[in-house]
Amino acid sequence: MSVLVINSGSSSIKYKLINPSSGEEVASGLVERIGEETGHIKHEYGEKGREIDGPVPDHTVGMETVLSLFEEIGPSLTDGSIKAIGHRVVQGGKYFDGPALVDDSVEARIEQLCPLGPLHNPAHLIGIRVARRLLPNVPHVVVFDTAFFQSLPDEAATYAIDREIAEKHEIRRYGAHGTSHQYVSGRVSEILGRDDLRQIVLHIGNGASVSAVVNGSAVETSMGLTPLEGLVMGTRTGDIDPAVVFHLARTAGMDIDELDTLFNRGSGLKGLTGQNDMRAVRTLAAEGDENAIEALAVYAHRIVKYIGAYAAIMGGLDAITFTAGAGENDADLRADVIGRLAGFGVKINADLNAARSKEPRILSTPDSTVAVLVVPTNEELAIARQAMSLVE
Ligand code: AMP
Repeated sequence: MSVLVINSGSSSIKYKLINPSSGEEVASGLVERIGEETGHIKHEYGEKGREIDGPVPDHTVGMETVLSLFEEIGPSLTDGSIKAIGHRVVQGGKYFDGPALVDDSVEARIEQLCPLGPLHNPAHLIGIRVARRLLPNVPHVVVFDTAFFQSLPDEAATYAIDREIAEKHEIRRYGAHGTSHQYVSGRVSEILGRDDLRQIVLHIGNGASVSAVVNGSAVETSMGLTPLEGLVMGTRTGDIDPAVVFHLARTAGMDIDELDTLFNRGSGLKGLTGQNDMRAVRTLAAEGDENAIEALAVYAHRIVKYIGAYAAIMGGLDAITFTAGAGENDADLRADVIGRLAGFGVKINADLNAARSKEPRILSTPDSTVAVLVVPTNEELAIARQAMSLVE
């Protein structure tokens, strides 16, 4: 029994075949550089695997090659053991507060939401259409990054902008990374053995977001209409005065596409240091690079600002959890962030923080006022489980 989880990007398809009950990753792979001169396909199944170098003209050819690799290398997708296909979709707007079985009307909704998720939804849609055509006998389920945040109260989801314009153009805070925040906050409840928790989840990867979760429901999150709002990220500004847009348009003559590229791809750690990867920034800082040292401080400052705000919004705080690439692996970042909260009695054990592990773990000392944890995220498993629960 397994679920094929597909994440279709504009020039890539990533996939994992997962047993949703045990969490076992049966097979995985990716198609890269679709539509470019040199493509790459990699499929792994246990000890077996195959890599193919060569142009992949479009998503259809990519998916067809992947399906033939499943039959050639294994495991077969045609023997009936695959129960569902779970597709990750970034933007579900106000229409989806949970997973949905794909039919033509769901496809049409995802298409309609492309202006709100221009970097992601069109690519997801291509992947969904190709997969539905090639695997017509398996139910296809879409799992939205925004769904977990449909529970946000209006006071958190509403921007203070002209109501008519907001309604007409569906301007609202939808959040993102919801599958990760939901999965991780659920694991924290299991680990601490309590559902009645006021939690902050810090998803700190190349994209970064923070959520406030009360008794299992999200009440705040840092990403907004798009994944640009909030924390400082690898290449994105996070929060910035929107007047910077007007100022640069007027004084630097930048057009809207240049500004979009600057804010989404040329800012964050990349804009401050020239590097978007946290490890590269840490290396620069260790060499004494002043821009990198300052960038790391800006980065931690923004996270701490959100922790304070969210603790106030929830009227208290029981747990802070780090997840995703830097959250799970960067002990210096965790020490910096938690160190800034010492005045509130939040404390972690330095040895536990420094220990390298892939397991979920508690870092806080017994006398800490707030539990501090690291919980590796697993968005693919969460998508597989949501897809399975829907088709069951
Ligand atoms: P993600 O988007 O979740 O894959 O996370 C990617 C980010 O995690 C990149 O900025 C990486 O540099 C960062 N990262 C991964 N491993 C480490 C590590 N050991 N120390 C610091 N940052 C890390």
